[in-house]
Amino acid sequence: MNHETRTMLCPRCEQEQPMRNFAMLGMSPFYAPMLAAIYRCGACSHLFAPRPDRQRDSRSA
Ligand SMILES: [Zn+2]
Repeated sequence: MNHETRTMLCPRCEQEQPMRNFAMLGMSPFYAPMLAAIYRCGACSHLFAPRPDRQRDSRSA
């Protein structure tokens, strides 16, 4: 996920697309802090959940 350009890479079709092309699946707000957000690719409908710790790595490095 690239926060500067607001794009994200789908791990299946490997297309870099704007964040708005990915649908975020709903989850219970009560459990949301424990869960990773699940996204659906707008191009191939692949479901995937980016690792939250990877996003932290890119920020500190
Ligand atoms: Zn895709």
